[in-house]
Amino acid sequence: MKGPGWRTWAALILPSGLVVALCAGLVTAGVLPGTLPGSAPWYPYVIWISSALLAWRFNRPRVIFAVLALALADRLLLAFAPGSQALSGGGRIVFDATAFLLPSDLAILAFLRERGLVSRWTAAVVGALLAQIPAVFLLGSAPDCRMAAALSHRFPEGSPLGSLALPTPAVAAFALAITALAVLVAARRGAVNAGFLWAAVAALLALAPGTPDSASTLYLAAGALGLGLSVVEAGHAMAFKDDLTGLAARRALNETLDRMEGPLAVAMVDVDHFKTFNDRYGHDVGDQVLKLVAARLAEVGGGGTAYRYGGEEFAVIFPGSAARDAAPHLETVRRAIAESGLTLRAQDRPEAKPARPKAGRAKRRVSVTVSVGLAEGAAGADPKAVLQASDRALYRAKEQGRNRLCR
Ligand code: GH3
Ligand code: MG
Ligand code: MG
Repeated sequence: MKGPGWRTWAALILPSGLVVALCAGLVTAGVLPGTLPGSAPWYPYVIWISSALLAWRFNRPRVIFAVLALALADRLLLAFAPGSQALSGGGRIVFDATAFLLPSDLAILAFLRERGLVSRWTAAVVGALLAQIPAVFLLGSAPDCRMAAALSHRFPEGSPLGSLALPTPAVAAFALAITALAVLVAARRGAVNAGFLWAAVAALLALAPGTPDSASTLYLAAGALGLGLSVVEAGHAMAFKDDLTGLAARRALNETLDRMEGPLAVAMVDVDHFKTFNDRYGHDVGDQVLKLVAARLAEVGGGGTAYRYGGEEFAVIFPGSAARDAAPHLETVRRAIAESGLTLRAQDRPEAKPARPKAGRAKRRVSVTVSVGLAEGAAGADPKAVLQASDRALYRAKEQGRNRLCR
């Protein structure tokens, strides 16, 4: 199996990971907003408000709540626990409780289902976030109570984690939250999920030194900015990426063609007898097959890029190529599709496992073929005209019996 490609890594890192990394660079180089006169005290507010507005506009209430959590944590820490290492009692509890609550809140928010902004759900979530403020204060006013002592527990001096500035529950919360968010990103992808993961990483970088100051504010603001930008990134993906197959969508193809000039080769790929296939196996199996076809097309060599043109039709663009250079790569994909199959469970599969499964009943392998029409355009050719020519070539491939490439 092939490992994740550069696109997967780029999707994980852009844009929120990049923001957090830039921020780490600034802190390491000692360039902090506190050293910039004038605008400095206002920049976190600008970031929180713009990120929340973006999240509101793109209908992502969970991101608004996460920005709220990051902002509250930052202001609480600066007001009550600046440089908490030197503090004892109340300030220390504020730090220890915040370091436990922030990663927990971020992870919980990431796993919540998105709902309408004006709803009881919103009231409950915002209520739960705001209720943490008096709870932290209560703990701060009773630093000797058992809860406060538990939150402030630290690894024993001299143990491998004994040098950490974070208390044990906070370390556990960060480890759990970051692991859970990494699993979420691996399973479901999505820029916003990655935004939550990087916000948790930013929170860890902010709190790990144990001394809330201008660097921690910068990290927490970077987490919020990353979340805001991830919402825009997700909106872009919605417009330009096909939801089912993950390929670039028709809109992206149109923009690419508008900006291109020949020479180029264009292929139209259409699944054969797909209507019959859907009728026989159902629309869901049809969808699985489209994903499989798309996955093979995405691997096409020769510098080709695959797009979902619509329905069971795909386009592959080879910039700067001639048809004879693109043809062998398309033939490879066409054969790979015909040879790869999908294993179905038989509908009448018994509940209990039979002692001897009947051959050919428990599992069933289905596959499809595709027809390919290929055309090329010389320098200066209109890419849309080349696309139309490839569509005509596809028609010929269908007429000549399907599962073949025609030029
Ligand atoms: P041909 O070999 O001539 O291309 O025959 P065909 O049956 O593939 O062509 P036709 O255009 O008649 O049918 C296309 C079918 O593709 C009809 C439609 O139900 C199915 N289809 C289009 N989009 C999707 C989709 O997203 N999922 C599924 N499961 N089916 C789809
Ligand atoms: Mg079709
Ligand atoms: Mg078809």
